Amino acid sequence: TDFGFREVPVEEKVKKVADVFHSVAGKYDLMNDLMSGGVHRLWKKITIEQSGARRGHTILDIAGGTGDLTMRFSRIVGPTGKVVLADINDSMLKVGRDRLMDRGVAGNVEFVQANAECLPFPDNTFDVITIAFGLRNVTDKDAAIRSMTRVLKPGGKVMVLEFSKTDNPALTKLYDFYSFNILPKMGQLIAGDSESYKYLAESIRMHPDQETLKSMMQDAGLVNCKYQNMTGGVVALHTGIKP
Ligand code: SAM
Repeated sequence: TDFGFREVPVEEKVKKVADVFHSVAGKYDLMNDLMSGGVHRLWKKITIEQSGARRGHTILDIAGGTGDLTMRFSRIVGPTGKVVLADINDSMLKVGRDRLMDRGVAGNVEFVQANAECLPFPDNTFDVITIAFGLRNVTDKDAAIRSMTRVLKPGGKVMVLEFSKTDNPALTKLYDFYSFNILPKMGQLIAGDSESYKYLAESIRMHPDQETLKSMMQDAGLVNCKYQNMTGGVVALHTGIKP
């Protein structure tokens, strides 16, 4: 189950993440529903509810992938607002763009290929910035949080939705078994790709825990940083405000 991800040099991690998402892009939405039993929809719904997004807002959904959050934000901000769906991976962006066009919600959405570590937007641009299930894939997470803080408007909110650490040993055991045994098998069966889903499990295990991520957000200059555990800490929603 351990394929030595820790020893992988930075350039290889970047390539690995790119390969994973090029490979899963077409099956991404289906796999999300199957792997989480549909619960990712609830995690995302809660994120939207706590975002404070309003009509006319400008929102960045970085690592936005196939656009689940973007789609919901697009409806909230309306024709006077704007949502930027940004992702480093052009395969994921393409699937996201096609999907949003199909649903007729792309009118106020802009699609940008960008790396979270060095966002190509002016300072103080966005009212809300979300990164959902994206930060764990980013090589320099501190740089990404700093970059998000820079492009956020004063008073604006950064929201990080990400897998995190469960506090219950029995749940942790169950979850590890699921991630390292069931998940790669499902990946093989449905997407014909167990390696990508092994990477997924490993990247989840390597991700900073709740308190560490909270400190990283504070270090980047965000205030009022807090988190809310969901599904027993399988997922946590971190938020911070730019002073
Ligand atoms: N936010 C979507 C969701 O919740 O369904 C997609 C999440 S998907 C698991 C992770 C996404 O992060 C992929 O689309 C991947 O291309 C993107 N990603 C990985 N590294 C990135 C980086 N450095 N900058 C921007 N996006 C990145």
